[in-house]
Amino acid sequence: MRKVGVIGAGQMGSGIAQTIAQHGMHVLLSDVDLARAEAGKAAVEKALAKQVGRGKLEAADAEAALSRIVPAGDYVPMGEAELIIEAATEREDIKKAIFEAAGKVLAADAVMASNTSSIPITRMANYSPDPKRFIGLHFFNPVPVMGLIEVISGLATSQETTDRITAFAESLGKQVVLSQDEPGFVVNRILLPMINEAVFVLGQSTASIADIDKGCRLGLNHPMGPLELADFVGLDTCLEIVKVLYNTTGDSKYRPAPLLVKYVEAGWLGRKTGRGFYDYSGEEPVPTR
Ligand code: NAD
Repeated sequence: MRKVGVIGAGQMGSGIAQTIAQHGMHVLLSDVDLARAEAGKAAVEKALAKQVGRGKLEAADAEAALSRIVPAGDYVPMGEAELIIEAATEREDIKKAIFEAAGKVLAADAVMASNTSSIPITRMANYSPDPKRFIGLHFFNPVPVMGLIEVISGLATSQETTDRITAFAESLGKQVVLSQDEPGFVVNRILLPMINEAVFVLGQSTASIADIDKGCRLGLNHPMGPLELADFVGLDTCLEIVKVLYNTTGDSKYRPAPLLVKYVEAGWLGRKTGRGFYDYSGEEPVPTR
């Protein structure tokens, strides 16, 4: 691939753009408007500067990677992309509108991919111009650091598309896990019930935030506790994924924890808003309960 479009320039979209640009490809980055796309590029600049400051990246390489990311105010330039990756807010209505609009410029042999955490690929493929060239490409957060990508083929995805996208994922230095198009795919199907359960445990005052996370870090040998991780993922994203698991399976074991709903209603979405289960306004995160 030489040129990739990325739609959605939030924490995932900017991380995806950074990773692709650091592997020598050109990126067109868009969001709801040009200013948000530019803010996504500014986030990449900050992340690259941090790597340079730590001596992990040459300043010239950071500059070259940054120059390969071009913010776009509309989808027209994405007609030149061989792949368009959607990484916008985890809501099907938003994604549907994106696939329909970007589908109008998608090149005849280009692939459209979604970074969705949970929304069925087979269903979303119908919003794109050619379901054979539609696939799930699920990155992990933070994208430049995490070594895994899940590739999810919908019912109509062609083998050629799966092979091309697997090769693309590997060209980013990532390992690939192939998943069937089932709710939550592999990793989130396992992770989100754990996060949701941790919020039930907190909501029932069984233990404090610090102790729930400590218990899982030390007792399960996880590098982060489930509430820290939920803040990292974004509580709105966690809630949307749990809702998808619940609604698509109809299984009550996936019902969202009421306290998770409350936090999202309060606008306490985790690190990205400065407050979730932890308060991020100081030097170190402080548990809020
Ligand atoms: P985020 O809230 O940081 O970013 C979402 C971005 O989408 C925002 O910049 C928003 O302005 C933009 N957006 C909203 N509507 C749009 C539209 N109509 N057109 C273009 N852009 C639009 O969220 P995020 O964490 O980056 O998540 C994005 C996607 O990645 C979701 O589908 C999520 O499920 C998935 N994902 C998230 C994680 C994670 O850990 N956060 C991991 C893997 C996948």
